[in-house]
Amino acid sequence: MSFLSATLSRVKPSPTVAVTTLANELKAAGKDVIGLGAGEPDFDTPEHIRDAGKRAIDDGKTRYTAPDGIAELKQAICAKFKRDNDLDYTPSQVSVGTGGKQILYNALMATLNPGDEVIIPAPYWVSYPDMALLAGGEPVFVEASLEHDFKITPDQLEAAITPKTKWFIFNSPSNPTGAGYTRDELKALTDVLLRHDHVWVMTDDMYEHLTYDGFAFCTPAQVEPALYDRTLTCNGVSKAYCMTGWRIGFAAGPENLIAAMRKIQSQSTSNPCTISQWAAVEALNGPHDFIADNNAVFKRRRDLVVRAMNAIDGITCPIPDGAFYVYPSIAGLIGKTSQGGASIDTDEDFAKALLEEMGVAVVFGAAFGLSPNFRISYATSDDALEKACTRIQEFCEGLT
Ligand code: PLP
Repeated sequence: MSFLSATLSRVKPSPTVAVTTLANELKAAGKDVIGLGAGEPDFDTPEHIRDAGKRAIDDGKTRYTAPDGIAELKQAICAKFKRDNDLDYTPSQVSVGTGGKQILYNALMATLNPGDEVIIPAPYWVSYPDMALLAGGEPVFVEASLEHDFKITPDQLEAAITPKTKWFIFNSPSNPTGAGYTRDELKALTDVLLRHDHVWVMTDDMYEHLTYDGFAFCTPAQVEPALYDRTLTCNGVSKAYCMTGWRIGFAAGPENLIAAMRKIQSQSTSNPCTISQWAAVEALNGPHDFIADNNAVFKRRRDLVVRAMNAIDGITCPIPDGAFYVYPSIAGLIGKTSQGGASIDTDEDFAKALLEEMGVAVVFGAAFGLSPNFRISYATSDDALEKACTRIQEFCEGLT
């Protein structure tokens, strides 16, 4: 019998972390590799937020806190939900965790029983299915196809709901596609959920502030107030505030769910890093103008990459509404052979050959549950992106 738990055998390691690790190993071995795998802004944390972290250290704010966050941060989070989403929450409805990842994980651990189903649109952020599996649940995938702009339809959601459905996980703008649901599109989905009062909504709004071309972000409890009592609205400072390493995420929802999540956190990580919590207070309460400046850079890079990908025969690349990813389809390249002799039968073959032959690291679509595609993170310098796009073009032109 294995020493390892049976639950662990249901789970695979994060493929995005694996690609980044491999790209870094190749770089360390002296290979010229451009990494387009990492899901984090290349900008530094803004100075006023860094200063708040330093001040917290100097002021002795270096001890344990309440398991799910300091009062000042909970207040700042309530103000954020009011300001950005017109949602009213009180501090007892708020949980702060070690990144958005831990918040989602706590919520699934706190609620899933064996056999409970979790509806996840595919392609999905890589961690949703494995977190659901770790918590004993069963992921149920609904295809968000290229033909539907990587969004699911109300009919698809209706068809996926069973008496065992516990959660519907919603993520807009999406990792990996950048697709965002308009208010009307989201309302059509919440109308379905209104008919099934045993289904709860876990909305992952991590990319709320990273939107382009005037896209208007909205979140389920705002679009359909009748869902407020069964919605967990999740967010964090990692992406928009360039704070991935500080590890602060948060959620707001019904008090009994928040209390259950607090119980798990109190017996696992105690509290999110105290210093980071004070920096997050400054992030949420301080000036926000840098976000628009960063978004102007992201939009320029998005346009550069989309243009380059669509110039390649065999690749189709929709224009995303937000986040910092594009998710081109390589349907027109499947079945070809690379200059180095690799058969491109899957998107995994494509990504592997692209890395080995051209030194460009991307993440293959199967990792996100929709093939044949690959994900480019354009949160890197224009120079690196231009060089990488030229290499991808050369690689694809060399396919026979
Ligand atoms: N949700 C989505 C959609 C993400 O892309 C990520 C990070 O990549 C997270 C949650 C987790 O964010 P954090 O770094 O705050 O744990």
